[in-house]
Amino acid sequence: AARNGEDGVRQYAPAMGQVFLRRFQLVTQFRQALDSGQVEVHYQPKVSLPERQVVGAEALVRWSHPEYGRLDPDEFIPVVEATGLVDALTSFVMECALVKVRKWLDRGLRMSVAVNLSVRNLADESFPDRVAEALGRHDIPPELLTFELTESSVMEDPERSMPVLRRLHALGVVLAVDDFGTGYSSLAYLRQLPVDEVKIDKSFVLGMGTDLGDMAVVRSIVELGHSLELVVVAEGVEDDAARDQLVAMGCDIAQGYLISRPLSEDRLEAWLQARTV
Ligand code: C2E
Ligand code: CA
Ligand code: CA
Ligand code: CA
Repeated sequence: AARNGEDGVRQYAPAMGQVFLRRFQLVTQFRQALDSGQVEVHYQPKVSLPERQVVGAEALVRWSHPEYGRLDPDEFIPVVEATGLVDALTSFVMECALVKVRKWLDRGLRMSVAVNLSVRNLADESFPDRVAEALGRHDIPPELLTFELTESSVMEDPERSMPVLRRLHALGVVLAVDDFGTGYSSLAYLRQLPVDEVKIDKSFVLGMGTDLGDMAVVRSIVELGHSLELVVVAEGVEDDAARDQLVAMGCDIAQGYLISRPLSEDRLEAWLQARTV
C-alpha cells in the first residue's frame, strides 16, 4: 500500500510541475508575445434583431504560441490577469479596436467594437483617462466603444470599481454587463450600476432549446433589462430556433455562431463585404 502511495506521488508531482512551468512560461512570455505579433485580436459580429443589421463586433484576443500553438483565452487570460500585464493586454486590444472603428468610419460605416475588461482595469483609477486619450487620438465618438465587464469583476472591490465605472460612463462609452445570470445578478444591484447594456450568458441561450428553465431565465433577463431601459444582447446564438425565440421575446441584439464565429480582421472584412452585396 505504501508503495502504491509512493507511485501515486511520483506520477502526480511531474504533472503538477508541468502545469506550474507552463503557467510561469506564459507569464514571462506574454509581454514579448504582445510586442512580436503573436497576439491578435479577432472580431465576432453582433447583429440587431429582428432585422439582422450588423451593429458592431466583440474583440476577442488570440495567442499563437510558438511552442503550444493557438492558445485559448480561457487558458492565458487568468494567468495574465494575475499579473500587471493585463493593463498592457487591455491597452493593446483597445488600440486595435479603435483603429478598426476608425477604418470603418473612414468608409462611412458606423459600427461599434466591444472590449472585455478585467477586474484590474476597474481598480485602476488612471484607466478612464487612458480611454479618453485613446478616443481623442483616433477621433472616435465614445458611443462606438463598448466595455464588457462581469458582475464578479465589479463586486470584487465595488468601492474602487464604482468610481472608475462612473467616469467611464461619463465619457459616453457604452458599458455592458457580461455573462449576466451567472454571478450575483440581483435586480437591486443591476439598478445601481451605471450600465447601458446587459449580455445574457451563453449557457442559458445554448440551453434554451432543451431546457425550459433556461428559457425562463432568458425571458426574464430580457424583461428585466427592458424594464431598466437597458439594451439586451444574447450571446451563444447557434441556431435559427434560438434566434426566433429571442426575436419573440424582444431581445435587441444577437451574437453567436449562427451569425458568425470570431474572425481575423481579413476574414471579418470579407464577411462584411459578402453581406452587403
Ligand atoms: P466572453 O467575453 O464571454 O466571450 C464570448 C465567448 O463565447 C468567446 O470565447 C466566443 O468565441 C464564444 N462564443 C461566441 N459565440 C458562441 C456560440 O455561438 N457558441 C459557443 N459555444 N461559444 C460562442 P473566447 O473567444 O474563447 O473567449 C473566452 C473568454 O476570454 C471571453 O469570454 C472573455 O471573458 C475572455 N477574453 C477574450 N478576449 C479578452 C480580452 O481581450 N480581454 C479580457 N480581459 N478577456 C478576454
Ligand atoms: Ca465578452
Ligand atoms: Ca460573455
Ligand atoms: Ca465568459
